[in-house]
Amino acid sequence: MATSSAKKSGAKQFAKKPTARASNGPSKALIDDLVAGNRVLAQYGVVDAFGHISVRHDKDPNRYLISCSRAPEIVKADDILEFDLDSNALNNKLGRTLYTERFIHGEIYKRRPDVMAIVHSHSPHIVPFGVAGVPLQAVYHMAGFLCCNIPVFDIRTKFGMTDLLVRNRDHGSDLADILGDAPVALMRGHGNVVVGPSIPGVVYRAIYTEINAKLQQQVRALGGTPTYLSREEGEKATLTNFSAIERPWELWKKAAMAKR
Ligand SMILES: [Zn+2]
Repeated sequence: MATSSAKKSGAKQFAKKPTARASNGPSKALIDDLVAGNRVLAQYGVVDAFGHISVRHDKDPNRYLISCSRAPEIVKADDILEFDLDSNALNNKLGRTLYTERFIHGEIYKRRPDVMAIVHSHSPHIVPFGVAGVPLQAVYHMAGFLCCNIPVFDIRTKFGMTDLLVRNRDHGSDLADILGDAPVALMRGHGNVVVGPSIPGVVYRAIYTEINAKLQQQVRALGGTPTYLSREEGEKATLTNFSAIERPWELWKKAAMAKR
């Protein structure tokens, strides 16, 4: 859950008022990875025409990068726009349509200095865990990062009857509060948000959160008394897997970019 110290440190680090001007530009490597991240997530069924991935700007922590409103599988470098942490577009010269739910990204970057990349998706096997009152738990070592309490954001609690979308900063801020210092938050009747220390890291988590959710449903269908990973096991497994993150990333990126 959110700790007040985490919130305070995040607010302090990013309290600087952003200027309404685009930066000199992020690195080409960051843009390339963001384009690849979009396509990998589509290839693995985490996103379809909906859902998005962002990354914190590598030259200005008060900015983030995300595509204009476009299906992730066909995102190109030219589609990537720069935003301040209030989710105002800074270089949308062509007036392109923006993702309605971009506030998810800006509000989490404000609170979580450790977060460098974010995925929002409606990946299907995770959705039931936001509805059923059954906690999402780490079934196997590949999803060891789920060993902590995975919170559920219910937009109805604070905002009443809505269309479930995170449409403004208030919605995004409440979601960021519920996420706290967790790697994943479920969104009741909607989807989930996954955060990570890099584009490869967040793509890894988004893919294996979806796979773990599918496996957990299979575990429950078997009956019996499941033994999920303990917190200590999950933390150890996470260290091991993240030390080898370049191996899957090289494969995923190569395969996704070869498609078109
Ligand atoms: Zn959504």
